[in-house]
Amino acid sequence: MARVYNFSAGPSILPETVLAKAASEMLDYNGSGQSVMEMSHRSPVYEEIINDCQSLLRKAMNIPDNYKVLFLQGGASSQFAMVPLNLMNKNRKADYLVTGQFAKKAKQEAEKFGEVRVVASSADKQFTYIPEVTASDFDKDADYVHICFNNTIFGTKYPYIPETGAIPLVADMSSCILSEPFDVSKFGLIYAGAQKNMAPAGLTVVIVREDLIGNVREGAPTMFDYKVHADNDSMYNTPPCYSIYMCKLVLEWILNDIGGLEKMKERNEKKAKMLYDYLDGSKMFRATIQGKNRSMMNVTFVTGDADLDKKFCKEAAAAGFVNLKGHRSVGGMRASIYNAMPVEGIEKLVDFMKAFEANN
Ligand SMILES: *Cc1c(COP(=O)(O)O)cnc(C)c1O
Repeated sequence: MARVYNFSAGPSILPETVLAKAASEMLDYNGSGQSVMEMSHRSPVYEEIINDCQSLLRKAMNIPDNYKVLFLQGGASSQFAMVPLNLMNKNRKADYLVTGQFAKKAKQEAEKFGEVRVVASSADKQFTYIPEVTASDFDKDADYVHICFNNTIFGTKYPYIPETGAIPLVADMSSCILSEPFDVSKFGLIYAGAQKNMAPAGLTVVIVREDLIGNVREGAPTMFDYKVHADNDSMYNTPPCYSIYMCKLVLEWILNDIGGLEKMKERNEKKAKMLYDYLDGSKMFRATIQGKNRSMMNVTFVTGDADLDKKFCKEAAAAGFVNLKGHRSVGGMRASIYNAMPVEGIEKLVDFMKAFEANN
């Protein structure tokens, strides 16, 4: 069977060249006579893989030296707890911006550990926009400010990095990491589940400023202490070995084949524009997010008729455009067009949508 165009929100499409490379190395990685899945995480051959992954990520994202990179498990959802356990440690207060379901879940988890204030929310308009906030909106006693940078389910993205002054800014970047360059120094901590833009599921990447490590709450499980993972170079226990290897291949693809994150951004902007331009001109489809708050990674749209939405998803899948159904909580359609989606995938999707529009 031919490969489909996979618009899944996560786990999601991976670059075909990366899959081919992994396949070619499956039975014998680099003359080791083993698959990466089988080798000891403490072997020299594996240590080279995890070290390369870290240095490639540092290079791609231009991560300053005073930040640690941690390769963890437990998904972005575990970070909803790990962040307050480690960072809510001075005044036991944190400010949260609620811009979607994951932001809300993060806020609810933090409430177990201290005083959480919702600085701004877009729940009043079904999370279709990003509130504008300035430094003066934040509680100067907050231990950190938490945002979800790209809202995977609703299809919004911050068009700016909130200015938080001296308060560390924490960002869930699960669905936008590596999609464009970000100034890491503006953040205290960035975390991401890898299964959107980095690797297969199983790996969670945390990029954290060194001074924020080492104050975990008393009684916290060892595995939930950033310091334990930082001091052990993400080898306190068995790391998600294969996902880290795949992440390394994805980073090599970004740096060598694409040409880095500036180029990645250009490519992503081109793809997103192509789809939004079509939606804006269509008489049948309508984008659910307008203007500068639009996500470059998750494009949400509707026809306005639930039956027609269903027919569209069904016919699209039959034509090789899969996983276009919107999140179960919002309905409609969502095209997740992560880094690995080729430009051609969007061109063909738009052609298919034009034909569907003409026939219905
Ligand atoms: C997918 C996603 C999550 C959940 O990630 P898990 O790894 O499944 O825990 C959290 N936040 C955002 C923004 C996501 O896109």
